[in-house]
Amino acid sequence: MNKTSILIVEDDNLISKFMSRAIDSAGFKSIVAENASTARMLFMSEMPNLVLLDLGLPDADGMDLLTEMKNIRSEIPVIIVSARERENEKVTALDRGADDYVTKPFGIFELMARIRTALRHSSKAVSSATGAEGKIYTHKGLSLDIDKHIVKLNGEEVHLTGREFRILELLFEHKGKVLTYDWMMRQIWGDYVPADNQILRVNVTNIRRKLKETVDSPAYIKTELGVGYRMPDDE
Ligand code: CA
Repeated sequence: MNKTSILIVEDDNLISKFMSRAIDSAGFKSIVAENASTARMLFMSEMPNLVLLDLGLPDADGMDLLTEMKNIRSEIPVIIVSARERENEKVTALDRGADDYVTKPFGIFELMARIRTALRHSSKAVSSATGAEGKIYTHKGLSLDIDKHIVKLNGEEVHLTGREFRILELLFEHKGKVLTYDWMMRQIWGDYVPADNQILRVNVTNIRRKLKETVDSPAYIKTELGVGYRMPDDE
């Protein structure tokens, strides 16, 4: 069986060695690209299960590389690993489909936990190939096939990232109930919950845009001001 492979796109050798050692000893296979052009090539030839992407690369902006990768294969999770001075780009990166964001310097346990979480979200799509009849949630023209990892709006497929899918799954699971920001964050990020809920709010904004939600009368995700979100249970 093939090992889960992780493409590390990082021009700082010390950091990439640090990451690849941890990744290899966790039983994954690491592949390192020192610049964007090598990364592009390896992304196509190796088809990694996950990408760790530095934003400051010698030959390109990692943000553009993120867009390219997501255009080619949106289901491969990309975790941005970047310097603190680029932290204000967090929202842009998430907006462009990044699955998570880790700021340097980071702890290796935190990074590995983020990797596992992202892989777990994306593997749901892969493991569904067995074709067993799974759970399908529906609400006002929106359907969520949990096993096949497919979201449809009025019959048309909507492409969500692993994290966006998980958020929608939580809302469906607890339809009608207010879910607090903190509770949702813990469900999604586990032990390494980001300090503020901005990342969650950005993800929800993206889902709403993809579901063509209207702010005034949202059919799927209602904001409970200062508390959290709720899927209205008024079929
Ligand atoms: Ca760099």
